[in-house]
Amino acid sequence: MCTYSDCQERRGWACAYTDMTGRKCNSWWCRRHIQFIERTPFCPRHASVIRALAPTANTIFEIKNRPAVDDRALPLAALVAEDVDKDVTELVRRRYQNRKDVTIARDRTVRQTWSGQKEVAWERSWAALKSQGYLIRIAVRVAAEEPDIVQLLIGNTVVFKDVPDWITRRREGESPDHADTIRRAPFLRACRRPTAGRSSRRHRRRSTAR
Ligand SMILES: [Zn+2]
Ligand SMILES: [Zn+2]
Repeated sequence: MCTYSDCQERRGWACAYTDMTGRKCNSWWCRRHIQFIERTPFCPRHASVIRALAPTANTIFEIKNRPAVDDRALPLAALVAEDVDKDVTELVRRRYQNRKDVTIARDRTVRQTWSGQKEVAWERSWAALKSQGYLIRIAVRVAAEEPDIVQLLIGNTVVFKDVPDWITRRREGESPDHADTIRRAPFLRACRRPTAGRSSRRHRRRSTAR
């Protein structure tokens, strides 16, 4: 029977997702609830994983580093990053618009990173670069061990950490609405905080110690 809650349909497809370790999802979904990508059936969660990683591959079969079957962190990171992409890009661009020596760079997809010593996390970032390095780097990160919590990083400092309710609603199948703009405002406000945050203070301390 279809895995979707309350769906009684008995005909359908198994999700074709296989992770790096060879584990398969194999959950069953009917015609209405399965999603096809390049003619391959995926459950809703794994369809979003594949879509999030697809921009770096020519075909979905080329996608390496596929997260674990039960990883929920990547789809959340991808959804939030996509949602704030336009605003954060604009924010970084506006801050450095008069600087000819500055390049704005943004990740096209989420990528795997490490949170702490060995915890896997998924992250997408926006940055302003000069030849010597970053002027600012803003990242949306979700750690695999806290798959419902979105972290916002400026440099290496977590400046905001929250369960994003505007996304929670969407994960439950509701469509985005106008109120989403208000709901994500605190998140974008955190992005606007002055770059001279804790990381530069730490840097100053380190330089006076020398
Ligand atoms: Zn169904
Ligand atoms: Zn699946």
